[in-house]
Parts: sequence; structure tokens; C-alpha cells
Amino acid sequence: MKKKHNFELSPFFRLLQFEHNAFHVKRHLASMMKHITIKKIFNLISVELQRRLKMPVVKGYPPFLKVEPTNICNLNCPNCFTGSGADIRKKGKMDFELYKRVMDEIGDYLVKINLYFWGEPFLHSRLIDMIRYASDKNIGTCVSTNFLVFSEKMAVDILTSGLDHLIICLDGIDKKTYESYRKGGDFEKFMKNMETLSKVRKEKGLYSTIIDVQFLVFDYNRDQINEAEKFIKPFGFDRFTPKMDAEQKEAYNPDIFRSDVPCYWLWHVPTLNWDGTVTTCCDMPPVNFGDLKTNTFMNIWNGEKYVKARRLYKYDDPSKSKIVCAFCHRGPNDEYKRKLAESDYHGARTSLMSEEKPWED
Ligand code: SF4
Repeated sequence: MKKKHNFELSPFFRLLQFEHNAFHVKRHLASMMKHITIKKIFNLISVELQRRLKMPVVKGYPPFLKVEPTNICNLNCPNCFTGSGADIRKKGKMDFELYKRVMDEIGDYLVKINLYFWGEPFLHSRLIDMIRYASDKNIGTCVSTNFLVFSEKMAVDILTSGLDHLIICLDGIDKKTYESYRKGGDFEKFMKNMETLSKVRKEKGLYSTIIDVQFLVFDYNRDQINEAEKFIKPFGFDRFTPKMDAEQKEAYNPDIFRSDVPCYWLWHVPTLNWDGTVTTCCDMPPVNFGDLKTNTFMNIWNGEKYVKARRLYKYDDPSKSKIVCAFCHRGPNDEYKRKLAESDYHGARTSLMSEEKPWED
């Protein structure tokens, strides 16, 4: 296998100055294309131009959205912000009415939403309703799950909900390997769920959801990558995706994320936390950029914090800022990024797990 990390940029992506990469584009392209409209294309191009021009106030809507149905999880995976116990936020589940309100406000422009963040999405009893609501508005949907909260009835619900992309996390093809990362998981139950989903899909001919089996690659399971691909073949799912950057061991290279190309999260993909607060991304611990319980989404999108964060790329000095993006490995603060490179910094997980938080909340 040539690439060590999924976030390595191909020469083509470097040429276009995309700091994102072929891995993610390839992974999400099919479900995005299904839901594209002229209105969405114009919005997407306009927002991208504004990003390139480093405009702090966005005239347009976010084309993508990340939604946290819940930050509760049934597992304790050590590399996860929630599983490791580093997420000290209150636990809870998103209010369905609040979710609907945001979909009603910006849904016409959304190409795709990812309904997962820090928690197991299927622990939200209305996840299927959330998918349906988005799907009825012609918005692409993706859910990533540890696939241990599941039943035959749910298989039918999932496959008829309009869900475009289901990511199932399998990180080992035997009990010992699987459970060494999926702490609290149950390999037998996981395999039974895979069989049930495969059976229901074949029996009922429900093939509109792309089923993508993801394999987080660590040193201890690296030798199982090829075997795992063969192992899942009999289920007849659509994809097998090894994710190489599960444990970023290589030293951080500050040049991968260039400061002259603004971070796409700030112009393209806001994140809604379960409690209605809006945050920037999943690279840093969630910081409150606004609260949907007391404000509209678009007021927050061009509110004080978002504008301050975007201004760091052109108008303000990031080394004097307390906004979270000024302390990020993808951010505009070259001085800080150099310091990270000189320290023992290994990417987003280092920040997520760290108790040091020099940014303002
Ligand atoms: S914290 Fe980093 S990854 Fe997140 S929006 Fe800011 S610059 Fe981008």
C-alpha cells in the first residue's frame, strides 16, 4: 500500500490548492451528485470563491453540514474524543424540532449532511426520522456507526429511509483484534448484525444505500487489511475502505495545510452539536460559536465568532487571536503551527485529548 495517510495530497489536489484530499472527495462524491441542483451548484461555487477571496462574511449558505445526533456512546474507543473521556461536555441527544428548524432554514442549499460526530448516532431514537426529513428535502445523508445498536426492524428502516451512505466500522476480522480498539464492543454481535443487514438487503432488494465497511488501520491490524477485504465479500456490500490515518504516528508537517488557502470548514461545513450550539469542525474540541436555541443558523454563520475566525486569513493577526482556529494544525497561524511541528504533535487527536486549551470558549 503506497500511501501512509489518507490526508496526503495528490499532485492534482496540490495544483488546485485544495487542502482536502481525493480520499474524502471520492468517498462522498456519488451521494453528493444525487442531490445536486442548479441552485446548490451556484451556491457552492459562490461560497468557494468567497473562501478563496478570504471574505469574512459569507454571502451564501453552507453546502455541507455535520450534525451530532448525540454525544453518548456505547463504546470506549481509546482514540475517540468521547470514548477516551476527553469530551467533558454534558451528555445528551439533539432535539428533533431544533434539527427540523435548521433543515427548514438552510436545507435548499445543502448538498449533504453527515449525521455523526462525537457519539453513536443510532442511540438517538429519532435518527431515522432525521434521515427521512433531510432526504425528503433532497439532501444527501451519511451515517457512520459502530453498528452495535441494531435489529432486523432497523435494517428495513435504514434501507428505506433514503439514507445515501452508511459507514460501518470494522477494525479487525477476529474477536481479539476487533475488541482491542472497540472497547466494550462485541464481535459476535457485530457479525450477526452484518449478516442481518446483508440478508434483509438481498431479500427485499433494497440497494439505494451505499454500504461502506471502514477499517481503521493501526499497527496491530495492518496485516489484516487484505484479508478483511476478502472477509466482508460474502456480505455483498458496496465498499471496503481502509482508513490509514487512524493513528497518526508521523511527525506533523505544517506545510500540508497551507495558510494562504483558508480552511474549508469555516466556509463550507459548520457543525451542529447535540445541544444546539454550533461549532467549527471535528479537528479541535467543540467551541461554542453560537446557540440555535436562541438564534437562527444564518445569524450564527455570519456572527461575531465565525467572522473573527475567517478574518484571521486576511485582516487580523492570528498570533494575537484567541479564536480556536489560531491554535489549530490546519489554521492560519504559521508561528503556532511551527511550534506544533517542533513539539510532539501528531495531528487533531493531540488537540482533542489535550487538557491545555489556550483558546477562548
Ligand atoms: S479549528 Fe482548524 S480545522 Fe477547525 S475550522 Fe478552525 S482552522 Fe479549520
